[in-house]
Amino acid sequence: MNVGNNILKVRATIPQGVELVAVSKFHPNEALMEAYEVGQRVFGESRATELVAKAKSLPDDIQWHFIGHLQTNKVRMIMPYVSLIHSVDSERLLLLIDAEAKRINRTIDVLLQVHVAEEETKFGFSLEELLQLVESGVIDSLENVRVVGVMGMATNTDDEMRINADFEAIAQTYQQTRTLLKNNDAFTQISMGMSDDYLIAIEKGSTMVRIGSTIFGYRQY
Ligand SMILES: *Cc1c(COP(=O)(O)O)cnc(C)c1O
Repeated sequence: MNVGNNILKVRATIPQGVELVAVSKFHPNEALMEAYEVGQRVFGESRATELVAKAKSLPDDIQWHFIGHLQTNKVRMIMPYVSLIHSVDSERLLLLIDAEAKRINRTIDVLLQVHVAEEETKFGFSLEELLQLVESGVIDSLENVRVVGVMGMATNTDDEMRINADFEAIAQTYQQTRTLLKNNDAFTQISMGMSDDYLIAIEKGSTMVRIGSTIFGYRQY
């Protein structure tokens, strides 16, 4: 795997204004440093302990994004290190992140995860749940959390029609939420698209793609 080259190749396919999150979960520090050396500064991790260990041993100017399912008992641990949490999937988690951010006197950016895919196992708010959350006023009341957009995944399938429809649904959810928020200045991001489907996601309005295996190769769990 030539990680540096892979990053440059992927970047060449991503338009300006779309952020590349290099998903480095399960890959060693050396692989991340190869990406770092060609200028990559935004990395995505899906496990709290792994994110913290990497953040402690790698350069300070890396921005760590948390992209996996976040258990409430892991929030405190990642709070000092993480710059964006993509995967907020409940009101309880949102309020806990706000409280923990307040405790250490920082403001943290988060995305609300929306669920549109066919798989039942995936986390996230349905459109209805998300609109309910916005209408309850909770988002506008947060003091130490900025809700900056939504994150979603398409169904894991080869059916391009379905993938297109899923990304379109995520983008529509974003628009509807944006319209309902009282203060939506910071609400600008749609995180969608992975190695196999990011080009479609960009066509549908993604502002942030999360790419792992195309850059780092297959993960050994
Ligand atoms: C692992 C993961 C990715 C990256 O997947 P690839 O197919 O390796 O690009 C993106 N998003 C989330 C939420 C992930 O867990």
